[in-house]
Amino acid sequence: MPNLLTIVFKKLKGGGNKSNNQKSNNQGKETPQTEVPQQVIQAQKKQRSDFEFGKILGEGSYSEVVQAIEKTTRKEYAIKILTKRQMIRENKQKYVMRERDVLARLNHPFFVKLYFTFQDKERLYFGLSLAKRGELLPYIHKVGSFDEITTRFYAAEIVLALEHMHSLGIIHRDLKPENILLNEEWHIQITDFGSAKILEADSTDGIVRANSFVGTAQYVSPELLTTNRTERVEKSASKCSDLWALGAIIYQMSAGLPPFRAGTEYLIFQKILKLDYVFPDGFPEKAKDLVQKLLVIDPKKRLGCNECGGYAELKEHQFFQGVNWENIHKQTPPALKPFTMLDGEEIHSDYYVDDFNILSNSLSEDFQKINTNETENYEKTHSRKYVLDPTSQERTQLLLKQEKDVKWHQFVNGNLILKMGLLDKRKGLFARRRNFLLTEGPHLYYVDPERMILKGEIPWSRTMKVEAKNFKTFFVHTPNRTYYLIDPEGYALEWCRAIEEMMHYTYKS
Ligand code: ATP
Repeated sequence: MPNLLTIVFKKLKGGGNKSNNQKSNNQGKETPQTEVPQQVIQAQKKQRSDFEFGKILGEGSYSEVVQAIEKTTRKEYAIKILTKRQMIRENKQKYVMRERDVLARLNHPFFVKLYFTFQDKERLYFGLSLAKRGELLPYIHKVGSFDEITTRFYAAEIVLALEHMHSLGIIHRDLKPENILLNEEWHIQITDFGSAKILEADSTDGIVRANSFVGTAQYVSPELLTTNRTERVEKSASKCSDLWALGAIIYQMSAGLPPFRAGTEYLIFQKILKLDYVFPDGFPEKAKDLVQKLLVIDPKKRLGCNECGGYAELKEHQFFQGVNWENIHKQTPPALKPFTMLDGEEIHSDYYVDDFNILSNSLSEDFQKINTNETENYEKTHSRKYVLDPTSQERTQLLLKQEKDVKWHQFVNGNLILKMGLLDKRKGLFARRRNFLLTEGPHLYYVDPERMILKGEIPWSRTMKVEAKNFKTFFVHTPNRTYYLIDPEGYALEWCRAIEEMMHYTYKS
């Protein structure tokens, strides 16, 4: 064990000390895999005590990423901490080294940057640039889907990132919205190179994982599911696998959900192999054309691959019309705003995603102030309509009646239903009809009315906010998600009134 550890850590340190490295350079046998990454050479090795550690940003299967501030410089980092014992037990040394190697080569604004590495007896530490806004995925969930301008912007950033990465012979192989982080200025920072492949030096890679597919079910390309070992390492097909993932991500940003969805991985794979996906109504035409040219079964026929004109051709696609490719990383990204589509019309929220602090699960102070001011004069201007105050005897009678007469009673946990009705609940471009039940508690349950199954509950909190957009459409903002609700009967304002009344009487102090 100690020998193995020593070898692994020497490699992780970039081939050990300086003289080792010079030796291999002199011999002229250095492969890119073992070069000392320039970024990672440090004047003085850092150590754990140089940092103040903060909150955990995320956890991987054998690592933890923690926010940290360097004591002397007050610079912020995301430090990835890997436990040596666990890494060796799970035989992950190769992936850790690969991730380190790849990160060290990528010097581009759209990738997480590796600033330093160090280790102690038990752990390895990778000092990474801090992507303050976290993963892209929760923002897609939060707003349901992106409008066309936002999708175009982020798709363009991903295209530039892939172009750079592929030009260095690096294939990501697990590109997905969870691995696309956002920095403070809302630009992308691609991460997670544990599944990556470096073409020149790593040509046997596919064999190592021959029996397991690389990547994540929803974004994996068909050739990785069908090809044999030798084909799987074929270079152009591998680069094209990232382009397939790009197609799936553009679909997801536009529609709100990934194109291939099913209950199990096996069923997802079947759909991928059959190219079995549909575009929901309202999917922008140019984005649709682009996705159709990326989600192509034959990797060599995917737009952007060498055989199809490479990145020049991809950037020329009409969806990208108007994109200034030169300095995207210096442009201000479009502000993320909850929005939905109704009858072909975009309906935008008055609030920005920035008002909801997704990462800390709360709302910004400004946003809370709006809430507080709004509720202060509430009782002067609003008569009580939904939130009644029955005696316990009245309540028991009402509940007995509800149990007898109302078929939805089974879903509400013995709570009195104050308002109910069918609403279309939209998630991105997809809509489902649900019966909503506002009850004491408070709770806002929703039920699949055809199958009579409770599907969920809108999480209730002091920071919830309703926003009526017109007679049919209203938004319920919660810290992690905006619910887009459409009342086909046109009573959206009544729903908002009922929810606001409930908020007021629940949280008034
Ligand atoms: P696994 O190890 O299972 O492949 P992973 O590679 O996704 O998982 P990590 O790279 O360890 O795991 O990252 C875990 C999570 O930590 C990420 O999903 C992300 O949310 C967060 N994270 C990682 N790097 C950064 C960073 N530079 N800035 C901010 N958050 C980060």
